[in-house]
Amino acid sequence: MTKVHNFSAGPSILAPSAFEKSIEDIRNFAGTGLSILEISHRSKQFEAVMDETRQLVADLLNVPSNYDILFLGGGASTQFYMVPHNFLRTAAAYTKTGVWASGALKEAKLYGDVKVVASSEDANFSYIPKDYTIPADVDYFHCTSNNTIYGTQMKSYPESPVPVFCDMSSDIFSKPVDVSKFGLIYAGAQKNMGPAGVTLVIVNKDLYSRRSDRPMPSMLDYKLHGEKGSMHNTPPVFPILVSKYNLEWVKEQGGVKGMAARNAAKSSLLYSAIDSNPHFTTKVAVEDRSDMNVCWVLAPGSEHLEEKFNTACKEAGISGIKGHRSTGGYRASLYNALPIESVQALVHVMETFA
Ligand SMILES: *Cc1c(COP(=O)(O)O)cnc(C)c1O
Repeated sequence: MTKVHNFSAGPSILAPSAFEKSIEDIRNFAGTGLSILEISHRSKQFEAVMDETRQLVADLLNVPSNYDILFLGGGASTQFYMVPHNFLRTAAAYTKTGVWASGALKEAKLYGDVKVVASSEDANFSYIPKDYTIPADVDYFHCTSNNTIYGTQMKSYPESPVPVFCDMSSDIFSKPVDVSKFGLIYAGAQKNMGPAGVTLVIVNKDLYSRRSDRPMPSMLDYKLHGEKGSMHNTPPVFPILVSKYNLEWVKEQGGVKGMAARNAAKSSLLYSAIDSNPHFTTKVAVEDRSDMNVCWVLAPGSEHLEEKFNTACKEAGISGIKGHRSTGGYRASLYNALPIESVQALVHVMETFA
């Protein structure tokens, strides 16, 4: 079989070592003679996994000690309403930079006044808005660091008079980030951390004193999840384990600094292949191009080559580059675990094609 190059936007490619170690733990977890899939989450062996995963997140992202690191269920989409449930008292500021950002602000509207301070909807979300002002009389500012569907990425964050909350689902652990500048960060694991089923939340505990006074179901309560070490209910045991192994691999490869160098090399290779090829073009603003999701289309006049290109990709084992159903075209996701050899294989097809 041809080697498959996995450019999937999510669930996405993971480090090979994460699979090998997880498979062993399905058979015999930590020498218990039991599978990770059938052992109590309160066993000391799993508690160790939880502690180690939390520590890996803390080390890799340099998380200050006044932050809770939580592993929750429900995906990033649950954070779209858990965030305002906890912290939206009267109003919040949001950026509208794509489908996910729009989803987050739609849910926030259920809880209060949402001020859209910046939007790139006028140009089909092909750029990151800049030069906007965040009002001081809102409870928080929410943004999306990487717009997975459109291939745009925030390269810097605005000055904010209020706590900054960020959906980092598709670029967490891809580069260094100064956590102390954020009130809350969340990320569905399945893009760049691990398999689907667990969501990472990093939240400044100082914010708990400013929570809304609406009724608080336990499962929506960050503070409670923090106090219980993400063990208030049965946590997503297996996704946490696989995430641990994937993050161990990130650490071995030089941590998030190592990932940033790796990812920049991959994305610049692919963007230059697009820019130099007469059959392809991209609508994404150059300065906002994502290192994680690279989006492009067939150039005007070359649209008839679609089937040919798709076939050439298929023959070369290129998998998962079909663009999102809302945008069409192509999208190659270059998450941490994707080797540069896969990008070289794709670029080779594009060049041969030209
Ligand atoms: C995929 C994605 C989501 C949705 O994540 P789920 O875990 O499926 O709820 C939210 N935000 C961004 C930026 C994403 O890429």
